[in-house]
Amino acid sequence: MNDKFIYTPGPTEVRENVRLARAKATTNPDIDVMFFEFYKKTCDKIGKIINTKNDVYILSGEGILGLESACASLTEKDDRVLVIDNGIFGRGFDDFVKMYGGEVVYFSKEYTKDINYKELEKFLERDNNFKYATLVHCDTPTGVLNDLSKLCPLLKKYGIITVVDSVAAMVGEELKVDEWEVDIALGGSQKAISAPAGLTIISISEDAKKIIKDRKTPVSGFYCNLSIWENYYTNKWFPYTMPISDIIGLDRAIDNILDEGVENVLSRHAKIAYATRKAFKDYGLNLYLEEGYSNTVTAVEIPYNIGAKSLTNYLLEEYNLVLSTSLGEYSDKLIRIGHMGENARLEKIVPVLNFIDKGLNSLGFKGNGDLLELFNHYYNYK
Ligand SMILES: *Cc1c(COP(=O)(O)O)cnc(C)c1O
Repeated sequence: MNDKFIYTPGPTEVRENVRLARAKATTNPDIDVMFFEFYKKTCDKIGKIINTKNDVYILSGEGILGLESACASLTEKDDRVLVIDNGIFGRGFDDFVKMYGGEVVYFSKEYTKDINYKELEKFLERDNNFKYATLVHCDTPTGVLNDLSKLCPLLKKYGIITVVDSVAAMVGEELKVDEWEVDIALGGSQKAISAPAGLTIISISEDAKKIIKDRKTPVSGFYCNLSIWENYYTNKWFPYTMPISDIIGLDRAIDNILDEGVENVLSRHAKIAYATRKAFKDYGLNLYLEEGYSNTVTAVEIPYNIGAKSLTNYLLEEYNLVLSTSLGEYSDKLIRIGHMGENARLEKIVPVLNFIDKGLNSLGFKGNGDLLELFNHYYNYK
């Protein structure tokens, strides 16, 4: 179970110091005041990384908990909600909206590009009566990156607050929550942050809090109700017992990022992602996207006569390498290079590209040259 080389777009590799931090002796997180201080400090550090003064919470539950909590807390029966759909996760927000009684209106676009600001503006000129909008920062199955810096302020201009799934982007892509007016930003522990799966990260604006406060009906549910967190620090009260070891591990992972420097972390993602994209193109494989590439994951089309699944199966059997295909209709069409978090390092991606090249050759695909050489060329000469 633990001897494989994992190179997926989450969960990502967890550094040893994070794994060891999780083994530390713990206290009772419900009653020990020191834990409240520790928790708040971790939240504040995350707030610094995502550039916000908004409240940040860490919830016990994998990233999906954040998506559902935002929709559960904001949605009342028959509320109109704009679901911005240019990817599988983007569209998938509709389930949560409907589950809590909302009426979904889609802004659906091609999955091969990021959302065009001008097209959204045109749409909003005609219809803007929405309580909130959902959108995805990096939609992982295809790796498309939406430009929050333009889209969120535009929505806000029309009085529409935003719920942004940044689970697969946070820390690997820049996120300026306050400047970009992101009302609810969602992250997960297991993607670019490189801690184990199990925690949701959430930042919430005063506007979003007010909407929850002004509801006519109570939030249905407790675990997904974001308002119960509001005064946890003043009252020294958590809604439920916090998974203290997970949070100690997350805190270490966050310190790893701060020790390296956020700018350095972002630039190593950018450098590796750029060289990966260029290398695959020169090698003779198509990238799925036409534009809007995220620096956290690259989706590459595998010729149908080989198939993405047989390539990943081969890589697992032959090299013990765990690589992802994709979801839904892409499951046999794309492989995804998960160069995020601890995996966005030269020494990690080099063997991966080497194995992919060898695997493709063995399965009958001959690229234009050597994938790793192509990568090195672009990595060194950017
Ligand atoms: C990983 C991820 C999540 C969390 O979902 P899981 O499928 O449970 O891992 C949510 N949103 C995005 C964009 C993700 O990449």
